[in-house]
Amino acid sequence: MTPQPNPDTGAAVKAADRAHVFHSWSAQDLIDPLAVAGAEGSYFWDYDGKRYLDFTSGLVYTNIGYQHPKVVAAVQEQAATMTTFAPAFAIEARSEAARLIAERTPGDLDKIFFTNGGADAVEHAVRMARLHTGRPKVLSAYRSYHGGTQQAINITGDPRRWASDSATGGVVRFWTPFPYRSRFYAENEEQESARALEHLETTIAFEGPGTVAAIILETVPGTAGIMVPPPGYLAGVREICDKYGIVFILDEVMAGFGRTGEWFAADLFGVVPDLLTFAKGVNSGYVPLGGVAISGAIAETFGKRPYPGGLTYSGHPLACAAAVATINVMAEEGVVENARRLGGSVVGPALAELAERHPSVGEVRGVGMFWALELVKNRETREPLVPYNATGEANAPMAAFAAAAKQHGVWPFVNMNRTHVVPPCNVTEAELKEGFAALDAALSVADTYTA
Ligand code: PLP
Repeated sequence: MTPQPNPDTGAAVKAADRAHVFHSWSAQDLIDPLAVAGAEGSYFWDYDGKRYLDFTSGLVYTNIGYQHPKVVAAVQEQAATMTTFAPAFAIEARSEAARLIAERTPGDLDKIFFTNGGADAVEHAVRMARLHTGRPKVLSAYRSYHGGTQQAINITGDPRRWASDSATGGVVRFWTPFPYRSRFYAENEEQESARALEHLETTIAFEGPGTVAAIILETVPGTAGIMVPPPGYLAGVREICDKYGIVFILDEVMAGFGRTGEWFAADLFGVVPDLLTFAKGVNSGYVPLGGVAISGAIAETFGKRPYPGGLTYSGHPLACAAAVATINVMAEEGVVENARRLGGSVVGPALAELAERHPSVGEVRGVGMFWALELVKNRETREPLVPYNATGEANAPMAAFAAAAKQHGVWPFVNMNRTHVVPPCNVTEAELKEGFAALDAALSVADTYTA
């Protein structure tokens, strides 16, 4: 049951957290986590009763919002009948989750390997690609995030890998298109796309095509800045993979399950990968779950030869029951269509309008319920509002922006010099408008740091 907001309970929760919880990606003494008393739909609230509109969907995963009654009931029902059962058995919740996912993934990605989250999905996709091809190397994008485990963080291009880069080996990073901050000196999106493809093919030539097992890309890179690939890019990567017999992995841990206004972002581009990783939105994170959707050809590799990998909780019944209920809720309530429709008719225009009035907004980009505002010191030079990977005093402008948004009742997603607008995919138009009013106020604070 959701605890009633009570400041004394909040203080005790906070004290125990500070004494005993070791937080991810943080300097433990420099953080001040909010004690959260409850959450419902697009909102959560603290122990003083202050409510926040969640423009982050947690870590971009509560695609149907918090505490959806049908999913909560499905988890309770599963717990009452079969809380857990080992992965080697056929279990109704697991079979049904796999069927519903396979029905929605593009092409012939019809076999589902379940994991506990996104990073381990990436680990397994890479292992499958290496075993399928018998080749050692994986090519990944500098502007990417693929997870915090050993191989996944090494594949990641995000600066977080700097602290934990573990020299796993066999990973080669490359540039991907980003017209706003292009390294290709391109004049238009098509040229950006063509040059990025040329760069990728050159990289493969130097590495030796016969050594490359896989190219892994986020279909729409999320954490690194929500950069919708320009026309032709992903289709071009598909062609390169086919030409050299390279496995194409699309990581849809963040972009999948409605976030872009399609069940899978690959559908935006008409591209079918050989492996597709998912997690987060598959069950809105109500119980940890991820997985790899596998093509017929790769599944066949492990038809007579055992796949050397597995997890104790693979396809956990509670997680799968949550996935079945979530996917059914998304279908019944038109959640994917909602993300597409409101993304195009409300979010895009509202953010463009904010950009017109606020000099701190350098660029607005996105699709569906997946948007980023790039905040800059100067629109002409495009100098970021804070330096790359800034902390402490150097990050003060973004900290002031975030504090203002929170003060006005919106919890913003802030990453470096960007704010990502990633509310639940079933957010309403009224909620969005409330959120944009708060962003408007917070951007006025960011404007004071422009020059
Ligand atoms: N891949 C992508 C594209 C992600 O965005 C993330 C997490 O944000 C991951 C993988 C890692 O997922 P997890 O945190 O569930 O391990």
